[in-house]
Amino acid sequence: MSEHQYDFDLFVIGTGPGGEGAAMQARKGGLSVGVAEKYRQIGGGCTHWGTIPSKALRYTITNTNNVLKNPMFRELGIHANPSMEQLRRGTATIISKQVSMRQSFYDRNDVPVHTGHAKFIDDHTITIDDGEQITSNRFVISTGTRPYRPADVNFDHPRIFDSDTILMLDRKPTSITIYGAGVIGTEYASMFRNIGMKVNLINTRSSLLDFLDDEIVDALSYHLRDQGVVIRHDEEYERIEGLDDGVILHLQSGKQIKSDVLLWGNGRTGNTNALGLENVNLDVNSRGQLEVNGHFQTAREHIYAVGDVIGYPSLASAAYTQGRAAAMHMLGEKDDNFRLHDIPTGIYTSPEISSVGKTERELTAAKIPYEVGQSQFKSLARAQIMGNTVGMLKLLFHRETLKVLGVHCFGANASEIIHIGQAVMDSEDLTLEYFFETTFNYPTMAEAYRVAALNGFNRLF
Ligand SMILES: Cc1cc2nc3c(=O)[nH]c(=O)nc-3n(C[C@H](O)[C@H](O)[C@H](O)COP(=O)(O)OP(=O)(O)OC[C@H]3O[C@@H](n4cnc5c(N)ncnc54)[C@H](O)[C@@H]3O)c2cc1C
Repeated sequence: MSEHQYDFDLFVIGTGPGGEGAAMQARKGGLSVGVAEKYRQIGGGCTHWGTIPSKALRYTITNTNNVLKNPMFRELGIHANPSMEQLRRGTATIISKQVSMRQSFYDRNDVPVHTGHAKFIDDHTITIDDGEQITSNRFVISTGTRPYRPADVNFDHPRIFDSDTILMLDRKPTSITIYGAGVIGTEYASMFRNIGMKVNLINTRSSLLDFLDDEIVDALSYHLRDQGVVIRHDEEYERIEGLDDGVILHLQSGKQIKSDVLLWGNGRTGNTNALGLENVNLDVNSRGQLEVNGHFQTAREHIYAVGDVIGYPSLASAAYTQGRAAAMHMLGEKDDNFRLHDIPTGIYTSPEISSVGKTERELTAAKIPYEVGQSQFKSLARAQIMGNTVGMLKLLFHRETLKVLGVHCFGANASEIIHIGQAVMDSEDLTLEYFFETTFNYPTMAEAYRVAALNGFNRLF
């Protein structure tokens, strides 16, 4: 510890999952901790305009659809066409529950929340809204990102949205163009299609979500198209024209696409622009993100950065773990036991996708002798009972050691069942055999592991 007297041992900027993870871990380790949050409520973009509202809306849409498509309800003549406002109604309740629960963590652990915009004025001092000055021995920057807004797109137009504003849609448009087919764009494409909108998904790359296993990407493309989403790859916008009765997307290829509204989903920028980083000699990259070392320290070792502001993987799940790892490092405790290299991906499209570990492409490039085991959800009793038979679980394993190297899944509950594979993959002792030597509940979706493991094992010779 320093011989200086500071107001806090650690001051955290931002109360999203990254900031919360760091603040709570540091506090549990005995440090005095303060936080700043510029939004009136804690929780970060994660709680207010990202993960939670989008997943809450998706859940409502999926549940409503399940009911409306159920033959029994149809027979009873039950039809409904809920408005955006009705679909969104549950979201506010969930956000408010999350805020009060998370606020109680700060209260219970004596971590004062300073409401306002934090800015560095020197190495150990920040101001809140250019007023109150607070000193701290160390800092964590966990300020997240915001949608990138190119200057030539008029986001003041009532029909042009980004991912922060789209949830405020006051009515259900007939059609939407989504520019940018990353995770956020693809999830919204799926969600809006599920409430009957015509959806154009414009991808600036040549395939969807190319960090996923190829077979999963193929399945996602097939199912989105099958549901009626029009996908266009390798396109760049030339200009976006907002009209009274719609929006025209002019593409450099000469195509023009008109829809009721447009969602800009192409790129995010780190919230670092007004942080006073010049006063602590820190630079950011072209996306406004900070670079860190393996312990989440920036170029100034007393200033850590975690979460979306450091870039990949830009997930709430990862931000929380990174925040905890940064605090562990400050506390001088082992911070390399968080398996930060094995962060699963959960993509809440229809079908849902989840994946952890290596893809076939990566294993082939690395010349690792692997084998594949697959289970189709259509043959699982649980999937048949749920009436949700689209999906597949794929296990990649070393053909000699039988170690699990990658788990890739799409279909019902993919983001939940992936964790069984993740646990086996991360274990020093367990191999593929675990899945067929262990009795799982029946009927469950987890049965897919036994089926896939046997399928792969039987390919060996
Ligand atoms: C539409 C959408 C859907 C998503 N879905 C998922 C998902 O399903 N699963 C998943 O894991 N991730 C998802 N994400 C990503 C996830 O939301 C982020 O990875 C996560 O919020 C990052 O956490 P963070 O702590 O880095 O930042 P944030 O949660 O963004 O929090 C940053 C906080 O810092 C505050 N702040 C910024 N600057 C200052 C300042 N100078 N002073 C004081 N406070 C400041 C902000 O007000 C904000 O509250 C989604 C994102 C979006 C946009």
